[in-house]
Amino acid sequence: MVARHDQTTDPVLLDGLLQARRGTAFFARKLNELADADLDGASLLPGWTRRHVVSHVGYNARAIARLVEWAATGVETPMYPSVEARNHEIAFGATLSPTALRNLFDHSAIHLNVEWRDLPADAWHHKVTTAQGRVVPAEETVWMRTREVWVHAVDLDNGASFADVPVLVLERLLKDITGTWASRRTDQGLVVEVTDHGNDMAFGDSSAPSAVTVAGPLAAITRWATGRGTSGITAHNSHDSGASVPKAPAWI
Ligand code: ZN
Repeated sequence: MVARHDQTTDPVLLDGLLQARRGTAFFARKLNELADADLDGASLLPGWTRRHVVSHVGYNARAIARLVEWAATGVETPMYPSVEARNHEIAFGATLSPTALRNLFDHSAIHLNVEWRDLPADAWHHKVTTAQGRVVPAEETVWMRTREVWVHAVDLDNGASFADVPVLVLERLLKDITGTWASRRTDQGLVVEVTDHGNDMAFGDSSAPSAVTVAGPLAAITRWATGRGTSGITAHNSHDSGASVPKAPAWI
């Protein structure tokens, strides 16, 4: 008999799956609000129309589903055969008819959800390799997808903003991004301060005497950290209370 509920009983993982499913529903809502002709319009990502965003999010679900299948079967199935193949697939998807493009998003999201739902509890710990070459347990696929659907829903430029993204997702995203900067040492002289979130959310490197502090509410700071604008953000250093806001270091 086919299971109709998640096989895992891990409460942390079930919470994560909930955020991924909510994000998918949110992306679907923002996509469904767009008329077919709107799909030709620009997204917030340079050089990408909304079609590219939908295509990417659809093929991303398929790529992540391949990792879940890998965890289930032990047969190595990478996300993408190559970077070129990934980019080619996105460009191709962007040329689909509006109906086919919407179906790509819907069907790929359903397929991924079924793979997650039917993955045996033990198999969630099996190791898979992401497109960036990171070796992670299959559990990580949930966060990988969560990040994509929430952020790209904003990229559709259809009224969604980082303020719509759940606080738990914003927190994890900001920790991920600043963690990447720290491991690459691209955060030297940069301090990041979240102003609406107690004092447990400060990141970066304050050791340099010329350190610049970038401050703002969680949603605005996370938006800035993903490279999507400086609105709601201020910057200061030891001699200038109104310094210009620096560009966030690269993250992907
Ligand atoms: Zn993406």
